[in-house]
Amino acid sequence: MNLIDFIQHFPDEESCETFIKSFREKTGVRCKTCKDTTKHYWFSGRKFFECSICRRRTSLKSGTVMEKSKLSLHTWLTAFMLFSATKKGFSCLEFQRQLGLSRYETAFNLMHKIRVFMGKRDALYNLTDMIEYDDCYVTVATNKSEVGPLKRGKGSQRKASVAVAAESVPVENPESGHQSKVCGYFKMEVIESVDREHVNGFIKKNTEGDIVLFTDRNTAYVDLKDIVSAHFTVVSGKESTNDTLRWVHKAISNLKRKLLGINHMITYKYLQNYLNEFVYKLNRRYFGEKLFDRLVLASIYPYVQ
Ligand SMILES: [Zn+2]
Repeated sequence: MNLIDFIQHFPDEESCETFIKSFREKTGVRCKTCKDTTKHYWFSGRKFFECSICRRRTSLKSGTVMEKSKLSLHTWLTAFMLFSATKKGFSCLEFQRQLGLSRYETAFNLMHKIRVFMGKRDALYNLTDMIEYDDCYVTVATNKSEVGPLKRGKGSQRKASVAVAAESVPVENPESGHQSKVCGYFKMEVIESVDREHVNGFIKKNTEGDIVLFTDRNTAYVDLKDIVSAHFTVVSGKESTNDTLRWVHKAISNLKRKLLGINHMITYKYLQNYLNEFVYKLNRRYFGEKLFDRLVLASIYPYVQ
């Protein structure tokens, strides 16, 4: 869905209610008491579903990411549209202005709610087969009174460690015989520090099956061979690194470029949420205009695959 379609389809609250209602009916309304998708009746006057078995009522927002939110469905759907409309994303101020929200905090909380569920959605999938891994440091804003004097370099208190992994499968052009690598899904996570414990933890949590892992020769990676089927290392900085770790490096440089403009206001606490949005869009880079529908689906069934 593009912006023109959106304005035509969702001019007001009523059109959004009709859309969410039929979307929920189509995908099945889940009753919190029966803990299952059961037959529901719709009460149009008060706008709720009622379970045919236990008679529990479910509002349009209940059980979704929008639950307990005072914002209208129209605001929520417009927010999904803004999140899916641009690759670059909006700053919180722009977002607030576009949605016509009177308070900055409302826009901030809404954006982070969406980023949290994007992360939960991606957490349903694990990486498989051949994987590239690397990590990077991201500058985050700090409250000087909390951290004391700042140190320089890698151990700086203003740097957060981010673990990055990408599925990366070699393919050969049958005509030219030229080898290249195609990337699949990505994962990015804030880790406490780049050491054996946290890197191993990240790989264990985010992969499944027989894994062939490629990294550079950081000493933090020496135990990775124990948790994957095969671990190959390349010397950092060489041309071979560019090829072997091509996709993680590309993702890291794109991430840094994206964060650059809003760096001054990202704090450690919210960094993971920004990573969630970045990776969610990266993993759905071929969805195009379908991204809006996926966001609506994910918002209604945030924890179901
Ligand atoms: Zn029920």
